[in-house]
This record gives sequence, structure tokens and C-alpha cells, in this order.
Amino acid sequence: MYRTHTCGELSQANTGQQVTLAGWIQRSRDLGGMTFIDLRDRYGITQLVFNMETDAGLCMKARKLGREFVIQVTGIVVERSNKNPKLATGDIEIIAASVETLNTSDIPPFTIEENTDGGDELRMKYRYLDLRRQNVRSNIILRHRMAQEVRRYLDGQGFIEVETPVLIKSTPEGARDFVVPSRLHNGEFYALPQSPQTFKQLLMVAGFDKYFQIVKCFRDEDLRADRQPEFTQIDCEMSFIHQDDILNMFEGLARHLFHAIKGLGFEGPFPRIPYDEAMSLYGTDKPDIRFDMRIEDVTKAMKGRNFPPFELAAYVGAISAQGCAGWSRKQLDELTEFVKRPQIGATGLVWAKVETDGTVRSSVDKYYSPDDLANLALMTGSEAGDLILIMAGPREKTLNALGELRLEMGRRLGLRDSAVYAPLWVVDFPLLEWDDETQRFYAKHHPFTAPKQEDIQFMESDPWRVRANAYDLVINGTEIGGGSIRIHDPETQTLMFRTLGFTEEEAQKQFGFLLNAFRYGAPPHGGIAFGFDRWTAIMGGSDTIRDFIAFPKNNQARDVMIDTPATIKQEQLDELGIEISKSAESK
Ligand code: ASP
Repeated sequence: MYRTHTCGELSQANTGQQVTLAGWIQRSRDLGGMTFIDLRDRYGITQLVFNMETDAGLCMKARKLGREFVIQVTGIVVERSNKNPKLATGDIEIIAASVETLNTSDIPPFTIEENTDGGDELRMKYRYLDLRRQNVRSNIILRHRMAQEVRRYLDGQGFIEVETPVLIKSTPEGARDFVVPSRLHNGEFYALPQSPQTFKQLLMVAGFDKYFQIVKCFRDEDLRADRQPEFTQIDCEMSFIHQDDILNMFEGLARHLFHAIKGLGFEGPFPRIPYDEAMSLYGTDKPDIRFDMRIEDVTKAMKGRNFPPFELAAYVGAISAQGCAGWSRKQLDELTEFVKRPQIGATGLVWAKVETDGTVRSSVDKYYSPDDLANLALMTGSEAGDLILIMAGPREKTLNALGELRLEMGRRLGLRDSAVYAPLWVVDFPLLEWDDETQRFYAKHHPFTAPKQEDIQFMESDPWRVRANAYDLVINGTEIGGGSIRIHDPETQTLMFRTLGFTEEEAQKQFGFLLNAFRYGAPPHGGIAFGFDRWTAIMGGSDTIRDFIAFPKNNQARDVMIDTPATIKQEQLDELGIEISKSAESK
């Protein structure tokens, strides 16, 4: 037997027992006549003591053991005189009687402790060592628990887990595909799924009724912080449902996970906010509602006073930050700099402060009377001590900028506590999105999303106003999942493809298999997919998904541990009928 116990389980109840442990040496300290070793395994750390006086030979042997050596040790559990409350086993230590080296180790490239000296790239290169660190490992264990609880809930609700293929044909999520060249069919390619969207719909046609899968998806998107080219979804689909059935079912999943993983409950149903309202109140379709600070449309009130930037603007909006009237010039300048950053692109920021006596002072006093400003305070619900921040410009852009400013204020005021969770549904998304560059509509969600029945009449006359039966689950300002009720009748699907500028042939070529299937009795159906990495990260109180993936890629989409992407042999290229162009070679 390699061990009688793990390194995380011994306590005072075991004192006097002889035990055998096995694990890695995290750290070793020689203090005169004593040598202490912290022995680590997946379950925790236990302190071993070697005593020069009682067994000099054994102590000398212990002193030769290096960091990350794998050892087996037998000894007696004793109560510690110097207890360590930070360690689960901190009340005891093991007085070693024998030690066996099971394996040696090179000196690790960074310290394998909670606070490591290793930089990101180095830790990624030696990910198996990074995974030995307690904090990284516990993220992966959290992920495991999430997956188990997802399965427990969905299985309990009658969902069937079905695997769908990975070598497929382009899917409709709108990103670039990763492709796999075919050896048997030179010149032809598989695409890796951006999601199992079409397959889960086919499973509904097949009568599976409730499907789910925890599944890898692949999207070759432009590099952005905290995006992974391969990521995991909790992918779900249901038949014979309306939008409410889906929202209720998956609100149930969210409640189950929060309860099982965090011991948290939520009073009342999750808020359901229409897309238009989310945009006008929070400047985003993924509002962080841990704090209020809503955007107020003050266009009417602020126009007509000859302040040029407002006169020229289509929209003027304001937020009110409680208790911030005392903010200094420097702080306000910082905020102005913040909104002028290219990512936000605002031209300026106007402020107004409600003084303790209720009078309002502003950076545009010249243009506005005390009454105007008192009215502004009233409209934004501001009271003595509050700071009003105002921006103007084209409506959508200004709302987005105010949304960013709102988040920044929330951050500065400590209102975005990662231990607080505020879930909500955003519903009634627009069906279509106009792209200026290509001068055409794109599906905001994907081309199988059903328009709202009452809006179908506008599909051709006024496509902008058509809303979809599409919804997102948002937690703390992050989109955790999204889905839609699907089109299941051929006429609406044809109309949708036409609106998207697909010819009949193109639609047949890309999605013919699905359209054909729909001719054989497709049930009304709909579904949703959740970003599993992101949801786990949020549950772990972090927004870095990489920390919750065992073997992630870096933000250049490289796996620096196995060193890929990599070139392949000429024979392989020949078999695939592929030639690398000169320009690619020189890159
Ligand atoms: N396939 C969609 C996505 O990946 C989700 C869904 O519509 O169910 O976003």
C-alpha cells in the first residue's frame, strides 16, 4: 500500500497513529537539529518532522531530498506545539520513522506555491507543474463539480446527453471556421463545429425532446484577451416549448448551480429585461446589475441652451454617482481621459455636482441656469452629495460610452464585488444586424432564430424593427449563455434566408441537410448554450477563463507547452494535397 492517508486529512483525532503518506516535497527547512518537510498531494499539505537527535541517519537522508521529489514516508501523528490555522492539517505533524524516495525531480522552473514567482508564459509551458499549485488545481476541481452538477440537474429534468461529431461542415455562428483537410478527399475540408447548433436541431427532428451536451466548440476569432479558440459549452435544446419554458428550465439550472456550488439562493425570479431597455438603461446588452446607476435620457432637458456639443448631438445621457460630489478635479480629469480612450471614443465629459445645500454646480454653468441644473438633478434622481456625469453624441455610441463609464464608476466605487451575483435575462433581441461594410443584414444570433410572430410582417418592409425570440443569461455584466426559439417551418426559414441575402442554392448548399430534415415533421423547438469556461470562472470569482481550463492556449492561440500550431511533414502535406505558399513559409 502506497499510503494509508492523503496529505489533506489527518487531524488531532489521529494523534498517536502510525501513518504512511506519499506526495511531493513542496518545501523543506533545516532548523538546527530538526528538518521540516511540507508534503503535498492533491488533497493538501502535511508537515513532516525529522529529528537529528532521535535518528541522525534519517534526518541526513531527509536533508538530501529536493523540491518536488516524490517520497513515501511513515511516521507517527503528533499534535503540533506551533499550530498553523491556515492549513487543514495544521494542528498535527508527522514524526517520520522512515522515508523512501519514489522519484527525484529536476529543480522546478518556478516555485510551486500559491504565490509563485513564475510568469504567465513560463507557467503555461510547464502547465503540469502549475496545476500542482493549490489555487490552480482548485479551479479545475470547481470546474469538475460544475460539470457534475450540470449533469445532475439536466438528467433530473429528463435531458439526454448526446455526443455530436467534431468533423463537420461550417456551422452558422458567424465566426471563422477551423478547418481540417481531408486525406481521402483531397481538396475537401471538414470544419470544426463552432457549436453543435444544427445537430441539436436535428436531434429535435429525431424526437429526442430534451438534449444536452458539455461540448468543445471551435471559433477562429480575432485575438482578444480572455478568449480561447477552443472552449466548452453546455449546449441544450428542447421541443414543444415556448420561450418561457426555456427561461424557467435554465433559470432552474442557474439556481441549482449557485445553490450546489456557492450555497447561494436568489429571491424572486431573475429580472427579464428587453434588449431595448438594457441598451437605454445600461448602455449594453449585458448589464451588470449588482449596482443601479442607470442611464437617464436628458436630451430634451439639455438641448436648447446653446451649449454647442449638446446642440449638435442626437442624444444626451447622464448617470448619477451617489456621494461622489466631492471628487477632485484630478479624478474628474481621469474620467474624461477614460471616456476619450479609443475603445470608447467619446469626445468629452460634462459633470454637475449637487452641493450639500442642494445647489448644483457644473462644468457648463455658463450655459445652464440654476433651474436647468436643478431639473437635471431631479431627472437623474440625484441628491445632495451626488455627482452627475453627462455625455452626448450619436445615440447608440453615446449609450455604449455611458455604459462603459457606468462600469468604471462601479469599479472605482467598489460596487462590483465578485462575491455578489446578479443574474438576469435579456430578452427580445433584434433578429437582424446591419453591417455597413458589406451592406447587408446578418442574423444577430444565427439564421435559425425565430422572429417574433407579431413582427414577421415587417421582415421585408422594415427589417430593423423585427425582434427575435432570443434571450441571453447575463451574470455580473458577462454574457453567460444565449439561445433562441428556432424557426421550424420552411416558409419562415426561406424568408429569413432571403432577408440575409442567401440565394436558394446557397442556403441549400450550406444547410440543405437541415432544411430537408425540416420537411419531415420538425417539432417546435428552441434551446440555449452556456459558456462553461466563463460560468465556471465567474463562480470562482474571476474573469480569467484560462485559469479554469486545464490546458489553455495563450492569447496568441498557441499551446506553448506542446508547442503548437506547428509545421507538418512534407509527406503529410503531399497526402493531403496541400502546398504551402511562399508567403506563408516566410512568416
Ligand atoms: N448555438 C448557439 C450559440 O453557440 C446557442 C443556441 O442558440 O442554442 O451561441
